[in-house]
Amino acid sequence: MAKLTLRAIPVAQRRVLVRVDFNVPLDHGGVADDTRIRATLPTLQYLIQQQAKPILCSHLGRPKGKPDPAYTLRPVAERLRVLLNERLGGDAQVGFCPETVGMQAREMAQALEPGHVLLLENLRFQPQEEANDAGFARELASLAEVYVNDAFGSAHRAHASTVGVTQFLHPAAAGFLMERELRYLGDALGNPRHPFVVILGGAKVADKLPVMESLAHHADVILVGGGMAYTFLAAQGQTVGASLCEPDKFDVARGILTRADGGKHKFRLLLPVDHVVAAKLERGAAHQTVSAIPAGQKALDIGPKTRDLYAAEIARAKTIVWNGPMGVFEIPPFDQGTVAIARAVAEASRQGATSIAGGGDSVAAIEATGVTSQITHISTGGGASLEFLAGVPLPGVTALTNAGQEPKGGAR
Ligand code: AMP
Repeated sequence: MAKLTLRAIPVAQRRVLVRVDFNVPLDHGGVADDTRIRATLPTLQYLIQQQAKPILCSHLGRPKGKPDPAYTLRPVAERLRVLLNERLGGDAQVGFCPETVGMQAREMAQALEPGHVLLLENLRFQPQEEANDAGFARELASLAEVYVNDAFGSAHRAHASTVGVTQFLHPAAAGFLMERELRYLGDALGNPRHPFVVILGGAKVADKLPVMESLAHHADVILVGGGMAYTFLAAQGQTVGASLCEPDKFDVARGILTRADGGKHKFRLLLPVDHVVAAKLERGAAHQTVSAIPAGQKALDIGPKTRDLYAAEIARAKTIVWNGPMGVFEIPPFDQGTVAIARAVAEASRQGATSIAGGGDSVAAIEATGVTSQITHISTGGGASLEFLAGVPLPGVTALTNAGQEPKGGAR
């Protein structure tokens, strides 16, 4: 169901509660990486230029439901002001409210001038946020007249600021970042150009199996790498030495392999054919490339033959979805497989493929390889994008007003 988007609602002179994902890494009290703040700038620029009164709310870290100065959003407000100034070439007004809801928040929201921005303190300083408490949601909603959700990365959680608030504040529209995420991921599932190649890696098989089950209905090829590959190889009866392996997932893995081998939805599933192994996981560890993993050795990356095999599939792709590294890419030399895949995805994108990458590790690998600008869409929500691709409805999206549906009035 298509959702109402920001451009379709009148916002001029109105107080707009905007749920953003400013869950950024901090370092010595400053913002260490402002990617997530930058990702919301198109929405904020639009609201400012429309003379709306944006009231921003976000979570940051895990402060466990009580105020904790280590997780204040105050430095984020400062960085946002700098970034908006750069973007608008002017004097952006970004206020910070030291409480999330309450008297001061109400006063500051009421006093907000058109085109000025207010950032509320960390939502998770209140235990009611994660509990999706109706009273807290109502208070938050009462600060504004319209709701916009631009926090795709939090849309898989039913919290007061992503779901509860929509009970009290209409219309509830998707911001530009949310819209973009839903468009790219939605097209990959609903309308992919073929061949559609999915690359799945990382360590947690349990997280990736539902995605694989769902994508098996859409994809032509699934390339498996990373720690999760060894559960599949072991399920086929291969020896995996001391590599990561989850025997309780063998049945599901065999089920997927069987379907790939001639099930109703024809897709091919490729597993690594060679591996970089070491006795110990450490930087610069003695390692070798093998096609059969010896006892006591851990497979920590895909080998060169697998890299070439996977790169050839990626080169033919018209749609690519990538989530999860091919090896322990944080620790050289076990980064080579992931780097090779990042290069192959970038090259295919240059040749016209649509590429979508999600998950903190794949995105970090893309950045480290220096090919970020060549990827069509880098998802800001690792967990949310995985759930979306697994076909699970995201509560924060479901809660938004459907496109074409009459707004049900203002804040109650
Ligand atoms: P995930 O959160 O499931 O996407 O897993 C990401 C983590 O998987 C990264 O920290 C990688 O270091 C780790 N990883 C990837 N390949 C392997 C492997 N072969 N053995 C152990 N860990 C791996």
